[in-house]
Amino acid sequence: MKGNYTATCCASLQAIFGNKTILPSTPAYQSSLTSYFSAQAAAIHPACIVAPESAADVASAVQLLTGESSCLQDEIDGNYRPFAVRSGGHATQADAANIDGGVTIDLRRLNSIEVSPDRSTVAIGAGNTWDHVYSHLDPANLCVNGGRTADVGVGGLVINSVDAYDEYAALTLTWGYSPEVGAIVSSNMEYTKETENPPVFAGLAGLPKLFGESQMSNMTQLAIDLRNQQVRGQRQFWATHTFASTEAALNVTHSHFHDEFLPTIQSVPDIVVGYTMEPLPPALYAKHTDQNVLGLDNRSGSLVISLLTVSWTESTDDERVQNAGRALIEAIDKGLKEIGAHDPFVYLNYAAPWQDPIASYGPGNVEKLRKVADEVDPHEVFARQVPGGFKIQR
Ligand SMILES: Cc1cc2nc3c(=O)[nH]c(=O)nc-3n(C[C@H](O)[C@H](O)[C@H](O)COP(=O)(O)OP(=O)(O)OC[C@H]3O[C@@H](n4cnc5c(N)ncnc54)[C@H](O)[C@@H]3O)c2cc1C
Repeated sequence: MKGNYTATCCASLQAIFGNKTILPSTPAYQSSLTSYFSAQAAAIHPACIVAPESAADVASAVQLLTGESSCLQDEIDGNYRPFAVRSGGHATQADAANIDGGVTIDLRRLNSIEVSPDRSTVAIGAGNTWDHVYSHLDPANLCVNGGRTADVGVGGLVINSVDAYDEYAALTLTWGYSPEVGAIVSSNMEYTKETENPPVFAGLAGLPKLFGESQMSNMTQLAIDLRNQQVRGQRQFWATHTFASTEAALNVTHSHFHDEFLPTIQSVPDIVVGYTMEPLPPALYAKHTDQNVLGLDNRSGSLVISLLTVSWTESTDDERVQNAGRALIEAIDKGLKEIGAHDPFVYLNYAAPWQDPIASYGPGNVEKLRKVADEVDPHEVFARQVPGGFKIQR
């Protein structure tokens, strides 16, 4: 029944799943929408949300939405209508993990955490958020590498993560701007051993500053503190690129950021900008290269992953911000190529929709991923019927 297929689907989901199917105008529906990080994703209204509580529930929901007897198949044109999958809801694009007028599978009730008896591994449900994981592991004096901010989801992040820190020390540097403080440089130093004022940071810590704070913390508190510094529900633009960790490369990023980008966007109301450089040393990316498909096994020097984040309030400024953000990334890439400092790697968790992180892993790795995709998703359901996220070319 054209136009009515989602209503039929939502009714079938409700018949099977009862109150695990969430309908509009209920408090659970509203709270699901407000739990998305970006205003663009929160503004999307699915016809219903299904919230499975077990792997078997997920399988039943996917069976109903896909395949020959799919309730999402249009009777007239035979096409399958799309659905969305979400975990923490922190992807910034509107349709990455939500779908207008369709069905969104919300995995957040899959939130089990089980530490193995020998304490060497932990099984984490895909619907967890990282603060939940850390608060479970901190009391046991255990930790895993995950997102740095509370509320970010496990499901979306682990699909493509190289996040981790040097054995003890990590430093991120940000070129920032907000109307209240103007242009600033902000550095964030973390030391994972219980040492006050570690000497490795003495040079930076001694520089004159507007504001500075240091504290002893565990992962749970750190993730919560970072979450509390974020403003939710703003419009968001994220993009990324990678380059060699050299002073010349840093100068390229700063001059384009400060001299070209800021003047074009600083009059956008409520704009907040961060261009954050995160270290990616060989000690991190050279690990497990035989098991991952990130394609970093042929690098040697220290790299930096940069993340450009911009938030603002009015949708009428979307195009202006997105064009300026893209122009900044492209201008820096050009400058980095001129000095031989550009690296083609694109970190998926930070990528903008127009970037191609999977292709950046190199043809051999894309081929490996294609083989896995052919095996686990032979009918290309998640490639065609779920529009969110980056896709492997099949
Ligand atoms: C404030 C903030 C802090 C962040 N910090 C970090 C960080 O420290 N390190 C880092 O690497 N990244 C970080 N990110 C980026 C983050 O990892 C990505 O946005 C990630 O996709 C979020 O995961 P999620 O589960 O919250 O997202 P969602 O929006 O729920 O999902 C993201 C994508 O993954 C898909 N997906 C989710 N779960 C599954 C699943 N189980 N199976 C199949 N597909 C699934 C969704 O369909 C969607 O396309 C941060 C983002 C924000 C907004």
